[in-house]
Amino acid sequence: MTRIAAPELGEPYLLTPGPLTTARSTKAAMLRDWGSWDGDFRAMTREMRDRLVAMLGEGSEAYDCVPVQGSGSYCVEAMLGSFVPRDGKVLVLANGAYGLRAAQTMEYLGRAFHLLDKGDYLPPRGDEVARILAEDPAITHVLAIHCETSSGILNPVAEIAEATQAAGRKLLIDSMSAFGALDLCPAEIEFEAMVSSANKCIEGVPGFGFALARTDALEAAKGVSHSLSLDVHAQWAHMEKTGQWRFTPPTHVVAAFLEALRLHEAEGGVAGRGARYTRNRDVMVEGMRGLGFETLLAERWLSPIIVTFFCPADPAFEFARFYDLMKEKGFIIYPGKLTVVDSFRVGCIGQMDEHVMRNVVRAARDALSEMGVANAAPPQAALEERAKLAA
Ligand SMILES: *Cc1c(COP(=O)(O)O)cnc(C)c1O
Repeated sequence: MTRIAAPELGEPYLLTPGPLTTARSTKAAMLRDWGSWDGDFRAMTREMRDRLVAMLGEGSEAYDCVPVQGSGSYCVEAMLGSFVPRDGKVLVLANGAYGLRAAQTMEYLGRAFHLLDKGDYLPPRGDEVARILAEDPAITHVLAIHCETSSGILNPVAEIAEATQAAGRKLLIDSMSAFGALDLCPAEIEFEAMVSSANKCIEGVPGFGFALARTDALEAAKGVSHSLSLDVHAQWAHMEKTGQWRFTPPTHVVAAFLEALRLHEAEGGVAGRGARYTRNRDVMVEGMRGLGFETLLAERWLSPIIVTFFCPADPAFEFARFYDLMKEKGFIIYPGKLTVVDSFRVGCIGQMDEHVMRNVVRAARDALSEMGVANAAPPQAALEERAKLAA
């Protein structure tokens, strides 16, 4: 197991889905300036792209990596704008904020889309996708969210990919909060392109994201984009020709990311990273349940990325106070994003291991007792809401 170093004294752990707690050596890699045109930095860009493609595993030869400046949403927009033809149509599978943001992006792009909105946390299923695709031959692409970070649900991308392929359409995946910790192997899941960013499961610092796309799709994307700076084909073609990014690259962020990639490899790649996060989640969820907290999602849909808990029914519980108390004890948690009931989220990703997660549970226990909350059980309405999931 790799050693996890505590953050600097007084610096809280970020139990958030990115930016997240990074390794000391990842931060330290930024203490040097790089010339964007220089051979050294071009070699760093090359190494980063190669490592990311290799992370796909079997079938990765058909893919190439195109980094894009900006946060993850810039990459989603770049992917939609570059791979969906102007006369194409996208089936957007939404079950949370990120799916809805993708639909909003399609609106901005002025390209056709069909939104399947499953609400806060129900997964879009393969048979639903098959039915919609059969009914609407105009749909050319399907957009799936791998892990919908707003609830933490792990969406069934394999069955979505199967339904998409069976209908002869193309799959685009927002794997922002999953890639690097969960498999996305082209030999098992057929997809045209996916996007992720530096500051999630690979544990880099924020500043850019990347698309991993089939080379034939990259070639076909020429002239499709609505945007100069978000044109994935143009960025790719320029990088292939010159080894450079088209516009100012986030040099320090790339240097940090390379160090994060090396740590990722040393931990055992996707399998090793996924195993640590899974252990983080299991230890944390078990401890929180022991305090009376309940998860929004049934076991089957829980991701090892982030977990949503219902707020306790006890009137002495107040989220803002709980947040402050947790922060005092060294942990930044995340507010919930559900519409029906109050909730909060605890991330399992970043430079943290199960020992840290045990301390998270202890901190939650102490915070509850300081607030005078005897039991963290959720209100009945929350449990009724959750029961719908099992139905
Ligand atoms: C983080 C994330 C994004 C991108 O969000 P930014 O704030 O733009 O980085 C997109 N989709 C998912 C599923 C995410 O988790």
